[in-house]
Amino acid sequence: MPAPADNHVCLICAQSEAELPLAAWRFQGREFWICPDCLPRLIHHRAELAERLAAVAPAEPPSVS
Ligand SMILES: [Zn+2]
Repeated sequence: MPAPADNHVCLICAQSEAELPLAAWRFQGREFWICPDCLPRLIHHRAELAERLAAVAPAEPPSVS
């Protein structure tokens, strides 16, 4: 069963805000959530998360005119 839209989960481990504190981050205009356990991965291994971050980001970059 998918989580309700207002039940935020960690982008990496999918733990919910009911289980532990989550911090909101923004990437290319989109918001995502990271828990304290996964924050070091975002900081030190950001390249490993490129796929997940790409899933958060808009499918197409805004066109520059
Ligand atoms: Zn996490």
